[in-house]
Amino acid sequence: DLGSSLRGTLDTLRGKSRLSEEDVEEIVKEIQRSLLSADVDVSLVMELSDNIKERALEEEPPAGTPARDFVLRIVYEELVDLIGESTDLPLEEQTILLAGLQGSGKTTSAAKMAWWFSTKGLRPAVIQTDTFRPGAYDQAEEMAERAEVDFYGNPDNDDPVEIARNGLEETSDADVHIVDTAGRHALEDDLIDEIEQIEDVVDPDTSLLVLDAAIGQGAKDQAQQFDESIGIDGVVITKLDGTAKGGGALTAVDQTDSSIAFLGTGEEVQDVERFEPDGFISRLLGMGDLGQLAERVERAMQQTGEEEEEWDPEDMLQGQFTLNDMQKQMEAMNNMGPLDQVMDMIPGFGGGIKDQLPDDAMDVTQERMRTFSVIMDSMTDAEKEYPKAIGASQIERIARGSGTSEEEVRELLQQYKMMERTIKQFQGMGSEQEMQRMMK
Ligand code: GDP
Ligand code: MG
Repeated sequence: DLGSSLRGTLDTLRGKSRLSEEDVEEIVKEIQRSLLSADVDVSLVMELSDNIKERALEEEPPAGTPARDFVLRIVYEELVDLIGESTDLPLEEQTILLAGLQGSGKTTSAAKMAWWFSTKGLRPAVIQTDTFRPGAYDQAEEMAERAEVDFYGNPDNDDPVEIARNGLEETSDADVHIVDTAGRHALEDDLIDEIEQIEDVVDPDTSLLVLDAAIGQGAKDQAQQFDESIGIDGVVITKLDGTAKGGGALTAVDQTDSSIAFLGTGEEVQDVERFEPDGFISRLLGMGDLGQLAERVERAMQQTGEEEEEWDPEDMLQGQFTLNDMQKQMEAMNNMGPLDQVMDMIPGFGGGIKDQLPDDAMDVTQERMRTFSVIMDSMTDAEKEYPKAIGASQIERIARGSGTSEEEVRELLQQYKMMERTIKQFQGMGSEQEMQRMMK
């Protein structure tokens, strides 16, 4: 799993506030590996990694920023810079033309996009001009029916340009016209001729190139040819529900100087998402939600006074979990949001794993947090570092010192135990590294 190997490399930066040249080399190598395995074009990977390397070495991390977060932010920013925001699609009357090779997912995407526009209160129509593939008409009609949108096609006409022209007239009641076209198995002159003629007649506001997420290194040629013939304004990536990460789309976006419009995530008409860079980049790198993590860490750093220690949610997953950790974590929660949400953003710890947590394990309400904080102020450092040594007489003293009840002190210790148990579940049990760390 490449994501975890990238994470492993990033972990070696833990505690460092400065990056050496070797650190940067190592990280850049891992990022290259992740991007290449996600099918990003080789020269694009090189260009990206050069930029990342240059910035990581030249830029000064803001005071108090861990090196790891700093480099992650650079990686994220460079990728966002390349991919950009999703293709602009105003919610108004418009015509969209879909292009792409056979099987890339044009017909499915036409119905999906029509469905998406209908959820925005518009009236879409799908116009099907594929006279090349047998059964194309029936497939498109059925999908439009499932999407509950207007549809035009003509199985008795073999002239796609005429069908396109008639289609626009026949569906004039609709606001959004989505014109589906035929593909071929490979780029051929007659395909290019045909789509150029359709483009002439249709005069689309937006032309989208539909790409299978598994396209890989072939994306560049396709993007270039379609861009030359009709001008590509955006990309639709389909079949992202499979294992392919869709790195070819980056190549296409770069090649056509465009952006990503939609993501296809299944065979149903509802399996469509408007593109959003955060999730896509995280997926490309095989990591958790990087964008959100970068954002939250940044916000937390802005809000945290300089005298305060940095707190990294991933630190909790290493070594001993002490009351000091719990206190820091509670303080950080004020800045970063509830712990279960923070957990979601730790690369590799999203979704599934978090769901295995007992519901109340991470649930410390504001009120209890305040009480706990007061109690911990009355504890010695030794007690916080080794809470197991806190017995009845200590509990009595701590309660008296903090003006709380012994019951509340016990509650705090119970909460701590529950959290410690949960954290332990995450830690690689018996890992040698862990043992060494604990013995230091
Ligand atoms: P076209 O030849 O470009 O019109 O491609 P189609 O729309 O006919 O799609 C080709 C195949 O890919 C069909 O079997 C679709 O069901 C399937 N397909 C399209 N988009 C997706 C997607 O996002 N996820 C999955 N799993 N299958 C898809
Ligand atoms: Mg089709």
